[in-house]
Amino acid sequence: MASSTGTPSGAGGSARVLVVGAGPVGLTAAHELARRGLRVRLVDGAPGPARESRAVAVHPRTLETFDQMGLVDAVLARGRKNRAFTMYARGSRLVRLDADYATMPTRFPYSLIIAQTETEAVLREAVARLGVTVEWGVRLTSLEQDGDGVRARLEHPDGSAEEYEVPWLVGCDGGHSTVRKQLGLPLLGESSETWALADAPVSTDLPPDTIYWVHTGSQALMMVPYRREGYWRLLDTAPGARPGDDPARRFSRKLSAGLGRTVRVGEPEWTSVFTFQQRMVPRMHDGRCFVAGDAAHVHSPASGQGMNTGVQEAYNLAWKLAMAARGQAGPELLATYGQERVPVGEALIGSTRKATFLVQFKNALAGVALPVVFTFVRTLGPLRRAIQRKVLGGMSGLRLSYGQSPLTTADPLMGLPAGSRAAAA
Ligand SMILES: Cc1cc2nc3c(=O)[nH]c(=O)nc-3n(C[C@H](O)[C@H](O)[C@H](O)COP(=O)(O)OP(=O)(O)OC[C@H]3O[C@@H](n4cnc5c(N)ncnc54)[C@H](O)[C@@H]3O)c2cc1C
Repeated sequence: MASSTGTPSGAGGSARVLVVGAGPVGLTAAHELARRGLRVRLVDGAPGPARESRAVAVHPRTLETFDQMGLVDAVLARGRKNRAFTMYARGSRLVRLDADYATMPTRFPYSLIIAQTETEAVLREAVARLGVTVEWGVRLTSLEQDGDGVRARLEHPDGSAEEYEVPWLVGCDGGHSTVRKQLGLPLLGESSETWALADAPVSTDLPPDTIYWVHTGSQALMMVPYRREGYWRLLDTAPGARPGDDPARRFSRKLSAGLGRTVRVGEPEWTSVFTFQQRMVPRMHDGRCFVAGDAAHVHSPASGQGMNTGVQEAYNLAWKLAMAARGQAGPELLATYGQERVPVGEALIGSTRKATFLVQFKNALAGVALPVVFTFVRTLGPLRRAIQRKVLGGMSGLRLSYGQSPLTTADPLMGLPAGSRAAAA
């Protein structure tokens, strides 16, 4: 195996930041660092872009982030705006909850349904415009660091190895992160449930203007309409395994039972059965190295937060790292990345645990209890609005604030509490 020290052609050069992983979080980090004039090298061990869609919902706070990056129009053009959540159980409609952003002003009062592959494509095109090319097939295998920089060992597709020295490194290399392991950062938490996903054509008369939660009386499923007419993301929280039961037949049977009407699911374009965990690192920063996205936390997809949180994290880190790399700020500013984002990650683990419980609703009395509970919710307007705002407040990311950050200084003359998000400036 050949070994070399230095930089390859193209995006390498006198790169000042190495971003490991070109998923949505690494692409966001690379974009924001390059947009601020840093030289970025972006490597990914996979042979090319991911083909599975995984995250489907981009929530308002992330849309605001994409807006600040100058990318929101391109993202909006590829997605479907969703403003409602409709619940069915054992053939009856329980309630339709409409998005109510009255207390959370935003220019994007909806969640955008868009396949993760599409979001990544927009980000890839944007980093390319800034002169950053993803180096596919280049895998980080180990790293060392001291006060002056990081020495990363990279493996190329032909098996050759490269020692690459760089002042800063950002690990966005997903749930099995090599960067996290090399830094000795433990993932603390628990493992959780096994769910199944499918992206499939569905023949149904349900209007595609809402997300559906569907309970059969013993099991829960979800349906999320894509922009492409007739195509849906389907989620089964209790996939089980019956011999000869293919995913299309299983989804058709369960959805028909829960919705009380015939639903025909066609051959899925993509399916995945996965066991998720609820874990995160206690620190997101070690010397000259950082972790962001799934490299720092993994959790249930119940409220669609993984990619959203990771994108916001990369955005938070990039402006600070850009200032530090240019000598305009010191370690105190870099430390605020973890000080601000670790509490967000911890709160996220708690909220996704609750969301998982609610989404799969395994209670043996579900078939009886759900219609009773939702009769109250439907008829009591204030209760319904309180639930809508509570759910939206957490999911949208709009209530997230940095009131406890060392960067925040309370100013009694300001109307807005210090550290809050400003809807417009
Ligand atoms: C089935 C499923 C459904 C999901 N649904 C949702 C949802 O609805 N909403 C939501 O917000 N989130 C969802 N998520 C989570 C979301 O997909 C992740 O949070 C998101 O992909 C994280 O992005 P990332 O860039 O941190 O990591 P990834 O997308 O995992 O990207 C990491 C990249 O790093 C590369 N890499 C790994 N190791 C190395 C190495 N050693 N060297 C170089 N490159 C490396 C990989 O090839 C990969 O391209 C879902 C996840 C799964 C699995």
